[in-house]
Amino acid sequence: MSIKHAAIVGAGVAGLTAALSLAAKGISSDIIEQAPQLGEVGAGLQLSPNATRVLGQLGVLPDLERHWVEPRSISLVSGRDLRALASVPAGDFARQRWGYPYGVLHRSTLQQSLLRAVLNQPLCRLHLGHRVQGVGADALTAVTPRKPDLIVGADGAWSVARDAIADSPTVSFSGNIAWRFTIGQAGAPAFLSRTGVTAYLGAKAHLVSYPLKEIDGFNLVAIAAGTRSDESWAIDADAARRAMLLEQFSGWHRDIRTILAGAERPTFWPLYEASDGTWHNGRDTVLIGDAAHAMMPFSAQGAAMAIEDAFALASHVAKTSLPSALVAFSVERKARAARVKARGDFNRFAYHARGPFRIGRDIVLSLRPAEKLAADLDWLYGHRIGD
Ligand SMILES: Cc1cc2nc3c(=O)[nH]c(=O)nc-3n(C[C@H](O)[C@H](O)[C@H](O)COP(=O)(O)OP(=O)(O)OC[C@H]3O[C@@H](n4cnc5c(N)ncnc54)[C@H](O)[C@@H]3O)c2cc1C
Repeated sequence: MSIKHAAIVGAGVAGLTAALSLAAKGISSDIIEQAPQLGEVGAGLQLSPNATRVLGQLGVLPDLERHWVEPRSISLVSGRDLRALASVPAGDFARQRWGYPYGVLHRSTLQQSLLRAVLNQPLCRLHLGHRVQGVGADALTAVTPRKPDLIVGADGAWSVARDAIADSPTVSFSGNIAWRFTIGQAGAPAFLSRTGVTAYLGAKAHLVSYPLKEIDGFNLVAIAAGTRSDESWAIDADAARRAMLLEQFSGWHRDIRTILAGAERPTFWPLYEASDGTWHNGRDTVLIGDAAHAMMPFSAQGAAMAIEDAFALASHVAKTSLPSALVAFSVERKARAARVKARGDFNRFAYHARGPFRIGRDIVLSLRPAEKLAADLDWLYGHRIGD
């Protein structure tokens, strides 16, 4: 093994998973997080089998399974007339086909499970309430005296760790907004599936719905073009931002517009994307998760990629010298993230199709059997990180 100790900036999904993955290889870490406590940021999250495979190997999965819902299917439905367009089985089918389950849960459930595992792991030390200004030696030793062999930038879309890496990615506004909100079971209309993930598709917008056991209700995410305000996530949607949401769904089925109009306390998430760029400095610093490749949620894979990155990084650094490990990690993970991003771009085009493209999409989907739709996802959900 080439290294003994790492400093990880950020205790999001990427940072906590990296700490556990490194510990599994006997490598200790200091995790430095700006937030004074790890709270309720975000809403629902879909975790596909490629991510749950890693979480299973790290021992976190049983904790998640107690809290989550395993959807029976992932369905595409017309947002104009609520007509079913296509459906991929999940549930037991996912376990059999891809070896691990597909689950939907609150993001804080995942973060708290990872946090508990980190706190129970003697090789991990968490430092909350420290905003790192950069990843130079002085900035880190202000928090922890132990000099790290490796610095992991897991500090999200607006990473400061990127500044230590020449030609690192930059982030820019994608032109799309996510409005997120939840509905309690009692107030939910009957057409929302209690057992599956549903993506309602329409011109230039889509709406995703799935049940959340933790709140006895539903998670809803509406995504459409919009104008941002500032570099931030999870802003409360004021009257203007709510009006923007309704305008984007103006031609949609009345029942869906009723849900959107009645949304209680929706949050407004301008969506940012990272450009291509260098992920490591060749010596001791590397980016993972959104810091490396913030992507649009069109294939629900951002957290999954963060989890895969963390596990892959630990696997590489345990195998070979650090400079070689950083190169191998970056080559492997860039190819994977690019393929996932391309799939997301395709979904964006297909989900938001208009006119003849929409008609073509609906015909193709209706002719494609569920087995074939599942087979199209084998490369994504069946992915294994080498050990
Ligand atoms: C609307 C929407 C829906 C999504 N749905 C899904 C989904 O269904 N499935 C899925 O897999 N992904 C989904 N994603 C993507 C997923 O949420 C992100 O990709 C994932 O959370 C990224 O994790 P991360 O740990 O890299 O970054 P973050 O979660 O942003 O964590 C970064 C951490 O670093 C800390 N930090 C930042 N700067 C500093 C600093 N200077 N010093 C110290 N700490 C710092 C932050 O406080 C934070 O805790 C969705 C995203 C959006 C916007």
